[in-house]
Amino acid sequence: MSSWLEHLIAKSSEGSAGKTGLWRTFKPVHNVEKCNRCLLCLYYCPENVIKVYHHRFIIINYEYCKGCGICAEICPQDAIEMVEEEE
Ligand code: SF4
Ligand code: SF4
Repeated sequence: MSSWLEHLIAKSSEGSAGKTGLWRTFKPVHNVEKCNRCLLCLYYCPENVIKVYHHRFIIINYEYCKGCGICAEICPQDAIEMVEEEE
């Protein structure tokens, strides 16, 4: 089995930290123009809340995203920006 597949199998289920919308201070915003769909963000997200649709669109489930910023750090295209949540 490839290490890629092993990692996917070992990933936590979506939203294992519970609903985060009320306490998250920063949220990731995806820029589709910069994205090359390498899927690294999906691979590294510890909450498994990033999905890809139709091989093109990256969707982040904000209900469960905890705003850790790992996806923005790992993105080679700077296609994810962490922005402060509005009050
Ligand atoms: S890591 Fe960046 S470039 Fe790769 S799929 Fe995610 S947003 Fe797109
Ligand atoms: S900030 Fe990014 S890596 Fe962290 S939980 Fe949210 S989508 Fe996943």
